[in-house]
Amino acid sequence: MSLKIKQLTKTYSNGVKALDNLDLEIGVGMFGLLGPNGAGKSSLMRTIATLQTPDSGSIFFDEINVLEDQMSLRKVLGYLPQEFGVYPNLTAEELLHYFAQLKGIPNRIDRKKIVDEVLHITNLYEVRRKNVSSYSGGMKQRFGIAQLLLNNPKLIIVDEPTAGLDPAERHRFLNVLREIGTNHTVIFSTHIVDDVRELCHELAIINGGKVLYRGSKQDGEASL
Ligand code: ADP
Ligand code: ADP
Repeated sequence: MSLKIKQLTKTYSNGVKALDNLDLEIGVGMFGLLGPNGAGKSSLMRTIATLQTPDSGSIFFDEINVLEDQMSLRKVLGYLPQEFGVYPNLTAEELLHYFAQLKGIPNRIDRKKIVDEVLHITNLYEVRRKNVSSYSGGMKQRFGIAQLLLNNPKLIIVDEPTAGLDPAERHRFLNVLREIGTNHTVIFSTHIVDDVRELCHELAIINGGKVLYRGSKQDGEASL
């Protein structure tokens, strides 16, 4: 399972070139996309998730031509955008059952199995009967992971998930991601160097829509 991005360029209507001929290859595991605000991280992630179209370039995930075949991509993608988070007054369990139904899991027993599983993975099982709207920021982010796992995605993209979390919540969130990173391709964007230090084996540092460094965390320590 690998993601191959070639010569990706994106210019917004205001003339800002957010991605500038960007090349990147990402395999299984926790991959850190590190860069300051405005570096182009969200633009890259939205483009991979096919929420916006680049000016030019190509993206392949295994055999899937991402930019040409959005349907196939959507089946294998789990995307947690930066601004995820408007919730009706429903419990985590109710919402996940509802999402699972939307995702086409019709049988109640199958739904319960997968919903319980994602609640356990994200450490939300104990609080499954609480309204998501009453959750802390960190719990909401973990709920965001729970809902994307319902798809059983192969490729997971999380955009700045630790922004605004207190240290304890951040720690809990990173532990959940670490677990998921053992058998998924996870792209994790952040401007926090310690997130990458604690979590990722491989990373890219991007700025100005370009990759400044791509390699292992050990080799990259000098750049961090
Ligand atoms: P496009 O060129 O892809 O059509 P637009 O310029 O129409 O993009 O903007 C799309 C959305 O992004 C709008 O909702 C806009 O408010 C928002 N947006 C505009 N400028 C910025 C910015 N600098 N950073 C983040 N979001 C922005
Ligand atoms: P990051 O996620 O690393 O903070 P972004 O991809 O959000 O970076 O932004 C890259 C550049 O593109 C910034 O200069 C930002 O202001 C601009 N930008 C992002 N989204 C839009 C948009 N929708 N319309 C216009 N400019 C945008």
